[in-house]
Amino acid sequence: MNIEPLIDALDADPTPRRRTVAVDVGGILVGGPAPVVVQSMTNTDTADIDATVAQVAALAKAGSEIVRITVDRNESAAAVPKVRERLDRLGITVPLVGDFHYIGHTLLAEHPACAEALAKYRINPGNVGFGEKKDRQFVQIIEQAIRWNKPVRIGVNWGSLDQALLTRLMDENSLSARPRSARAVMREAIIQSALFSAQLAEETGLSRDKIILSAKVSNVQDLIAVYRDLSNRTDHALHLGLTEAGMGSKGIVASSAALGILLQEGIGDTIRVSLTPEPNGDRTREVQVAQEILQTMGFRQFVPIVAACPGCGRTTSTVFQELAEQIQSDLRTSMPLWREKYPGVEGLKVAVMGCIVNGPGESKHADIGISLPGTGETPSAPIFVDGKKVATLRGPNIAEDFKVMVADYIDRRFGVATVAVEPAAE
Ligand code: SF4
Repeated sequence: MNIEPLIDALDADPTPRRRTVAVDVGGILVGGPAPVVVQSMTNTDTADIDATVAQVAALAKAGSEIVRITVDRNESAAAVPKVRERLDRLGITVPLVGDFHYIGHTLLAEHPACAEALAKYRINPGNVGFGEKKDRQFVQIIEQAIRWNKPVRIGVNWGSLDQALLTRLMDENSLSARPRSARAVMREAIIQSALFSAQLAEETGLSRDKIILSAKVSNVQDLIAVYRDLSNRTDHALHLGLTEAGMGSKGIVASSAALGILLQEGIGDTIRVSLTPEPNGDRTREVQVAQEILQTMGFRQFVPIVAACPGCGRTTSTVFQELAEQIQSDLRTSMPLWREKYPGVEGLKVAVMGCIVNGPGESKHADIGISLPGTGETPSAPIFVDGKKVATLRGPNIAEDFKVMVADYIDRRFGVATVAVEPAAE
């Protein structure tokens, strides 16, 4: 029996990334050959310079490679260059994107220092103006982008979709011999809005390598359909994101499902996970989730992975859960320092397992793993390093001892070796 077709069918590789035109956003390449970029957005009032600097710094430290800030009025536009200056003084070089709605054309013209300090302008074609002002004001923003040599993101959002375009397509559809569903027409309007706006920007003189497109909706199936279609119709770099994803696990699951499918199909050059934080919640969660989507799918590596079993009736102790949580949190907290000190450490795999059933097997697949004793097992924990059992921990300090072993392993494997200088021969 020829099993090759069966083996081919089991091929687990994603579709190769669709090649788009690369866009330089303040030194970060989006699209083309660049890896998928993680970005985020602040929720501070940009006019509150202290709060905005602190949040941008936190997002950048968490790994956001681009950060968007709201520019909604004169006070926030005036604050932008000061925010940039303060970040530069702190050594934080993350590019800032200005999010403009309604009066972006005026703000950019009246605040040249803001236009210059930003690395990219985000324009929502549904919110640049109405009637005959719409195209004129859109062109004015593009002219500012040309003047300051900045890229733009043309970010269509179904919540603020160009109503004139939608109405026209709905009317045409109703006269068609084979009318499509209202949902399909809405998706077409989102795509056309992005493509028409990109065309207008290029006709105004903005080059193709200065344009990123996004077309966000809040329904997972619609988002997948829109981006599949959009990526077939353009080679512009694409920014992916599910808008209004929601709070907590709902937002994380919806974003992971939508973005995961598109990334698997090779679609998407930069992602943002729009999570609604709890009141006073940590904004950096959206960066962590975006990184975890890319890392669990094998597209990029950011932080060492801790594989932990879910636990079951074979272990009633919470030791392994606490240990897995502590190690994951220690690894994430240490990463800003370790990126420099231990190059490559982001590829480390640690296993923390609850009993002998899967413990030794999973630990052998990790770089370093521990198989904790389940209920009724001998109170000892074998340690596996690079697939081999190297030690057995016992006693009340198993968790602490394992953490020391992980730290030693990291230092040994990823520490930059000090080269001894031998004295010159006489
Ligand atoms: S490794 Fe053991 S404790 Fe963990 S889920 Fe499997 S059987 Fe349960």
